Formats: sequence, structure tokens, C-alpha cells
Amino acid sequence: MSYFDNNATTPIHPLALDVLTQSYEDDWSNPSSPYRQSSRTKAKLNKARFEWAQLFGSKEGDVIFTSGATEANNMVIASAARNHSDQARILISGIEHPSISIPAKHCFQDRVDVLAMEPQGLVCLASLQEKFERGLLPVLVCVMAANNETGVVQPWCEVARICEQYQVPFHCDATQWVGKMPIFALHQAFSFTASAHKFGGPKGVGWLVDKGESSWQVGGTQEGGKRAGTENFPAIASMIKAWHECDTLLQEVKAEDRAPWRNNMEEKVCSHVPGTQVIGQGMQRLWNTSLLLMPKFDNLRWIAKLDALGFEVSTGSACSTGSDEPSSTAQAFSLAPQEFKRLVRISSYLSHTQADWNNLGDALIQAYHQLLEDAKDSNVISI
Ligand code: PMP
Repeated sequence: MSYFDNNATTPIHPLALDVLTQSYEDDWSNPSSPYRQSSRTKAKLNKARFEWAQLFGSKEGDVIFTSGATEANNMVIASAARNHSDQARILISGIEHPSISIPAKHCFQDRVDVLAMEPQGLVCLASLQEKFERGLLPVLVCVMAANNETGVVQPWCEVARICEQYQVPFHCDATQWVGKMPIFALHQAFSFTASAHKFGGPKGVGWLVDKGESSWQVGGTQEGGKRAGTENFPAIASMIKAWHECDTLLQEVKAEDRAPWRNNMEEKVCSHVPGTQVIGQGMQRLWNTSLLLMPKFDNLRWIAKLDALGFEVSTGSACSTGSDEPSSTAQAFSLAPQEFKRLVRISSYLSHTQADWNNLGDALIQAYHQLLEDAKDSNVISI
């Protein structure tokens, strides 16, 4: 099978898996226990935190290892609500992942403001600036770095600059960014989150880097007292290994070299499957992502055909698969309910070659012809 759903999750890198299993053998003891074996695990954990902080140009004390980005996003939002009055407001973009938008509603209730979006799925900087100039200052602004469904890259550095000017904390969900794009500027955000399983690391581990005072579970002094619970050092060690492997590959074939492989696939499909639209086309997008609005047939039928042809792709985001509700991204692009059901998301990763993209393009065209044939044989009108 050719796996093209890497925005949902990536397979673990074999060397990261080696580190994980070895570390479960060597470093299984509780880092907080009092004997030498545990002190060794604790020392390795401290070294890992130091390395992670260096990677992002952050302070060690600002790095909090978590179970993933969902937890880390929840932590930031719950802390913002807890640390401010019940009049405080939060401002989020209209395309945030549910791990931002749902906790925002949960913690801030009717005090959630949504940033206006431009037609091509970009947050509107002018509207942010204008809100701030009018003195409407929230206690937290959340804008993701790159969208999980369209791959559209958000102007998060500019958001960070505007927020800094008005001294409003800016949180950036960088889950789809890390492992695909350069990370050196992320420290410009007041806080940011990401997750190991999006770049060849294990599931169930991620992090928050936070210059503020976010904290979460209580009941222990781990993670500087900010997140109680026995640390999962083997997963952290494996995540770091995955990062190094991914970083090396990213240096070898750069994003600007990979994006044309995706673009060629899109061009080919658009010319052979009349009426196909590329969502976010013409915008700066992650090199690995393509969100296609197919001209006909329900996306689950496309996915089944492609699966049979040896290609695994997705509908919208994995978090909204099976839901009848259009995702926030589909809403930001003002897609009608029928259109939402025709979205096919394709997301490659580092091991894919230009030939893999070509083959996927051919498979999409083949699937189209098969679906047309099926429709001829059927009395059911296809939508
Ligand atoms: N934010 C974004 C943008 C994501 O794509 C995801 C994963 N679908 C998450 C947060 C949640 O990440 P995790 O699986 O680590 O909880």
C-alpha cells in the first residue's frame, strides 16, 4: 500500500522504534525514585529537555513534555482561563484544530472571538490589528502554523509580532509544521505545541514550550510541577531520535523541491477529472498536503476505490472523519455541505518520491473512470 495520510499520523521511524524498545529495557525505572538506576533515567530526561530547549532556542524550564498536542493545547487554554477573570476573552482563528476550538468554548464559553478569515483560508491580519487598535485585547490569541486539512501556511510570525507589540500572549499550534518546515522561528510565539507522531515518532508524546505559567494535571511535581504524572522517558527519547532522522531527510530534499511533485499530481488530476478543485491552490502550502474537492461522487467512495488500487488517503481531517459536520476549515472556505462530502485529503511524507506522487495521480484518474462506470451500472443518482 502507498500511504498518503501522514497528516493524520506517520509510521514510526525504524530507528525511533529501536530507541523506544531499547529505552523500555534500559530506562524503565521511575525518574523520581531514589536509587541510582532512577537517577540515571532522570539525568537522561534532563539531558533530553536541555536538547529540546536548545533546538527551539527556548529555556529548559519552558519545555513541558506531554502526551501529545491535544493535551498541550488543552493545557494552554485551560491555564489562560484559570489565570484570568471570568470576563476575559480568547481570540482564535476560524480554522483551528478541535483541540483548540473545543477547549476554548469549554473554558471561555461565550467569550470566544473568532478571527476573520480571508477567502483563501488565511487569517486576516488587518482584522487582528484593527481589534487590538480598538483596545479589544484578549488574554490569549491562538493561530495554528499550518492547517492540517489544506496545508495552508498561516502568517503566524506576523501574528506573533502584532501580539508582542500589544503584549498579548500568542499560542501557536505547530503540530503540522514541525517535521515539515524550518523550526528556528517558533520561539517567536509565546507558546507552541507539537506532537511526535507527525514526524516519525511514537504516538502519545508531544510537548508545549511556554514562556508563561501554563500548568495542567496536579498530583505530582513532574515537569517542574506543571504537569503531574510519571514521565514517559522512552517515548521522549524515541521522539528525539525521530526528529534527528526527519531533520536529516528534510535537509536532503528541501520543501521547495518537493512541492512541485504535489503540484504536478494536482495539475494532472485537474486536467483528467474535469471540475476538480484544489483547495488553497496558489497559497503557500505545506509541501506534503493536497486537499481536493472532487467534482462528483462521495469522498468515501473515492477512498474505497483508491484503497483497492493500493493508495490510502483521507476525507478531511482524521478528527472529523465520520462526522456529518463540516470541519472549521471547510466552513472557512465556505464549502456547501455537498462539497464538504467530496473532499479528499492527501498527505505525503519524507519517504515519498516524485514517482509515488505520479502513481497517485494516475490512481485518482483510474478511480474516476471506475466510479463513472459504476454509476452507469447503477440506477442511483450519484452526487
Ligand atoms: N493540532 C493539529 C493541527 C493536528 O493536526 C493534530 C493531530 N490531528 C493535533 C493538534 C492533535 O495532536 P495529537 O494527536 O498529538 O493529540
